[in-house]
Amino acid sequence: MSRRTFRRCTSLSSLDLNQLKQIGIRGIILDLDNTIVSEDDRYLSPNSESWIERAQEEGFSLFILSNGKREYRVNYWSERLGIDAIGRAKKPFPKSFKIALYSMRLLPIQVVVIGDGFHTDAIGALWNGCHCVQVASLPHKARWWEKIIGRWVQIPYPKHAPLWSFNPQYYSSSFTRTLPSIQKDIT
Ligand SMILES: [Mg+2]
Repeated sequence: MSRRTFRRCTSLSSLDLNQLKQIGIRGIILDLDNTIVSEDDRYLSPNSESWIERAQEEGFSLFILSNGKREYRVNYWSERLGIDAIGRAKKPFPKSFKIALYSMRLLPIQVVVIGDGFHTDAIGALWNGCHCVQVASLPHKARWWEKIIGRWVQIPYPKHAPLWSFNPQYYSSSFTRTLPSIQKDIT
């Protein structure tokens, strides 16, 4: 059995799936915000969807753990990518990692956690005995805490690296579910 590994890279699609296989990895726990899609929904990580498809075709089990509180986004991406997901996952705490590992029927040492947050994804991986890859954070407006500790817990997205745009209109079908309460607020 291999030892746990920690590495950094620019984006999901720059990770070699064969290398993951070679160290015995069979499952991938993915972060959502600023890893696959920017939290302000402006950018997609280039080629991340085809990378995820390839991982699925090659037999990896995948699971999304997101600390995001906007449920419609987590549901949307879970459906779009065909991956089970937990929102409000409270990473790095172990509960959601345990659920993901149980659902994938894998041991922690067979799983890599991929995300942009050191304090959430990397610490979560370490705490739960998984491998970890920290990717660069997709560009987004810094929150108050990121202005203070962002430089220690995130890798800035390289200035000239490619970025794909995303149209949040795709969420519109999910928005209809919350329309009644919004309308109530307006009237
Ligand atoms: Mg993130």
